[in-house]
Amino acid sequence: MVVVGAGPAGACTASRLARRGLRVVLLDRARFPRDKPCGGGVTARGVGLIPADIGPVVERRVTRVDLGMGYASPDMLAVESAETMVHMTQRRRLDAHLAGAAAAAGADFRDGVRVRGLRHVADGVDVESDAGALRARAVVGADGANGAVRAALGVPPPAYAVALEGNLPRGAGGFDDAAYIDRALLEFATVPGGYAWIFPKDDHLNFGVGGYLDEGPRLRDHLAAMCRAHGADADALEHVRGHRLPIRRPGTAVAVGRCALVGDAAGLVDPFSGDGMYEAFMSSAIASRCVGDLLEGRAADLSDYPRALGEALGAHRAGAWLGKLTAEASPRLTMAILRPEWVRQAIARRMCGASTPPPPAARAAAVAVGRLARRALGPRAA
Ligand SMILES: Cc1cc2nc3c(=O)[nH]c(=O)nc-3n(C[C@H](O)[C@H](O)[C@H](O)COP(=O)(O)OP(=O)(O)OC[C@H]3O[C@@H](n4cnc5c(N)ncnc54)[C@H](O)[C@@H]3O)c2cc1C
Repeated sequence: MVVVGAGPAGACTASRLARRGLRVVLLDRARFPRDKPCGGGVTARGVGLIPADIGPVVERRVTRVDLGMGYASPDMLAVESAETMVHMTQRRRLDAHLAGAAAAAGADFRDGVRVRGLRHVADGVDVESDAGALRARAVVGADGANGAVRAALGVPPPAYAVALEGNLPRGAGGFDDAAYIDRALLEFATVPGGYAWIFPKDDHLNFGVGGYLDEGPRLRDHLAAMCRAHGADADALEHVRGHRLPIRRPGTAVAVGRCALVGDAAGLVDPFSGDGMYEAFMSSAIASRCVGDLLEGRAADLSDYPRALGEALGAHRAGAWLGKLTAEASPRLTMAILRPEWVRQAIARRMCGASTPPPPAARAAAVAVGRLARRALGPRAA
């Protein structure tokens, strides 16, 4: 079988399927190690889904996340935990580590190979790439926000948001970073449809902003405003780069024939927080099971994948739409909701992975509320 894309979703899928003893070819158009615009924050619940130890590439472990509404707002609220809530990585290192783990598990990792298209044939799929054609019994499309596999399958594109980030080397421009190195900071009600963040790493702080797609032309100004608000020099930021955040439209296919889409290729980015790695790891775990069952003759098709994905992420996603609507409609109300200690403890527990999926009726109700929240946000959210 072939996995297209060796980001977190693809590398973990390749690892899991190779460990099952299946023959896996993992293709990526980039030469590794390569970077990917990203804050590199992996929540603890995401780490629990990774089929490898990422300890060697975690640069800081954060037990406190400060939430604010507005840049550098004085009434920030802390979400704290005795355990690590966010593992801070750099994607260049994390992705090379995960692709290496896939190769160590037995996957045939070929970087520098771009997939151009694919076609279903009897009992398989022909994959067209720069390096020639490959016949696979199944394909997992893990090729990110601009997915070639999704397009080749005729699945309509997701909605997009956009984010921009850059690195401030420790002490650059005389910035005193002591107050920032042991916490993550997330500020909502800053960019329309989005947020701003500061994440600590080994030798720098990562500053970023994200929002509705049509905020793209203004994101540099938002990033500069955020830096100013914290007393940092935006001109001292290094490696400033942006990327699209794909947000799945309700009902869009994640499996077609013998092909499944995972991570950003399936449009799974959280519409509120902009996180996508937890969803990448979760969809990878579920798709690996479904594809493995198909290839080992235990399932006739991939129809269980969308069902199981909805079960795992449906309520989580609905909560994200509701959170986004509340934060946009009334930052004040949002802060009031976050104020009680028990609410923030519940958030901390969720980030650490201690939440059980709701029963089906509660999930269905949550998904319906999530759809209403999305609609209420208007056309920019769709
Ligand atoms: C600025 C920014 C900040 C973010 N910060 C965070 C964060 O802190 N925490 C978090 O959880 N999420 C964050 N996200 C979201 C996160 O980056 C993505 O959700 C995550 O990268 C998804 O992983 P993936 O494996 O699905 O896709 P990707 O990481 O995009 O990997 C896709 C891979 O496919 C390859 N590829 C693409 N096309 C082809 C092709 N035709 N043939 C072969 N290979 C191909 C690419 O080279 C790439 O290696 C952020 C996103 C942005 C834009």
